Amino acid sequence: MDFDFDLFVIGGGSGGVRAARVAAQEGAKVALAEEDRYGGTCVIRGCVPKKLMVFASEYGGMVEDAQAYGWDIQPGAFNWKTFQGKMYAELDRLENIYRGILKNNNVETFDQRATVADAHTVRLADGTEKTAKHILIAVGGRPTKPEIEGIDLAITSNDIFHLDALPESILIVGGGYIASEFAGIMNGMGVKTTQFYRGEQILRGFDDEARTHVANEMIERGVDLRLNTNAVKLEKDGSQVRVTDTNGDTQLFDKVMFATGRAPNTDGLGLEALGVELGRKREIIVSEYSQTGVPSIYAVGDVTDRANLTPVAIREGMAFVETVFKGNPTKPDHDLIPTAIFTQPEMGTVGLSEEEAKALGPIEVYATSFKPMQQSFAGRSEKVFMKLVVSQANRKVLGCHIVAPGAGEMIQLAGIAVKMGATKEDFDRTVAVHPTMSEELVTMKTPTRTG
Ligand code: NDP
Repeated sequence: MDFDFDLFVIGGGSGGVRAARVAAQEGAKVALAEEDRYGGTCVIRGCVPKKLMVFASEYGGMVEDAQAYGWDIQPGAFNWKTFQGKMYAELDRLENIYRGILKNNNVETFDQRATVADAHTVRLADGTEKTAKHILIAVGGRPTKPEIEGIDLAITSNDIFHLDALPESILIVGGGYIASEFAGIMNGMGVKTTQFYRGEQILRGFDDEARTHVANEMIERGVDLRLNTNAVKLEKDGSQVRVTDTNGDTQLFDKVMFATGRAPNTDGLGLEALGVELGRKREIIVSEYSQTGVPSIYAVGDVTDRANLTPVAIREGMAFVETVFKGNPTKPDHDLIPTAIFTQPEMGTVGLSEEEAKALGPIEVYATSFKPMQQSFAGRSEKVFMKLVVSQANRKVLGCHIVAPGAGEMIQLAGIAVKMGATKEDFDRTVAVHPTMSEELVTMKTPTRTG
């Protein structure tokens, strides 16, 4: 049977664009449909603008530190509009790069919504249908909000980049990556920031000691973090929002942002009618090769809710092309994914938390906390935290957790060693780079505890 295309990709984010490009480079005839902006969550409303906001929010503190180092400069006011204009321009530039990648590789693009009509047919919003030998769904996810009274008054991470002005006060609800990152950003930009988290400690699932360190430093820097607290009701009060919490208290905020999780964008795609299985969160259930129960339909990225990270979506997209277009069946490797949480302070982590490792067998824990030279000289009391979790049985470093300026950069490199199966003795025989913070990773000689 003749198809219009070898591959039709739905979704122009990290996973979809990568798969489309690499498949096209293999000689496949490829199309891609995107209903919004090219670049997807990461480029348009996630990682990239978020990180720019992290950078912007850190300069106030840097000016203070510079004064301590003898620079005759005064902190001024942060101009949100100036920054926002530059951020928008940068996102436009990146979106153009994404469009260019597709164009230069002869991927035909359709700037409209696409749904799946049957196992080999995609229906575009304008009613036209295109056939393809393979369909790749890479439509990502979206923020979700719980159904509490007045929830429409709350914004999500999609909206935070588009504020007309910085609020004087903000409440951020949630304790995951997004809530905790934006609590730091807003606080750094001078917004009076409150964060509600319903559980005992933010960043559930990460190493207990590391996340407690992050939380304590966030509080130290001015975030009003309220644990075991959730919002139950929102009401409009003039230009503000009155929030009632689970303790029965009420407080007024200029803005309320919910970062209470994300959901896969599977609604209305036509998948259920075709027999493509969806999970409890409406994520697409796929095999280790990213294949759905309908053999011609594959899915990668956040819509499959495996590890919802851009580099993982890219890996999944590449593995899909290896499998389907290069005749080399390849499973994306989801083991030992290093990741950074751009909280302030930043956290980098790879492998098992102490709690997870302990449940699997006897371990040694090497942990240290100290004032880093640069910040200490500037009179700051903040401390960094480093931890290695080591298997007693085979001496392998099972987990590495860093809370420090630049922790994301550090964990990328430590992640290579951990991925290679480095032992504690491999770390020990590596010469320290002095004076740095990360040298502590190779100089911790005595276990802090065993378990
Ligand atoms: P997460 O799933 O990480 O966190 C959701 C948070 O909201 C949790 O603290 C959760 O609490 C809480 N929550 C859920 N439902 C409710 C509710 N009804 N009321 C109050 N609180 C609630 O989602 P995020 O939105 O923060 O991020 C989504 C994903 O995006 C991440 O898992 C990550 O994969 C990715 N991401 C990665 C980043 C990075 O790499 N730096 C940055 C941003 C996002 P509880 O813990 O109790 O369930």
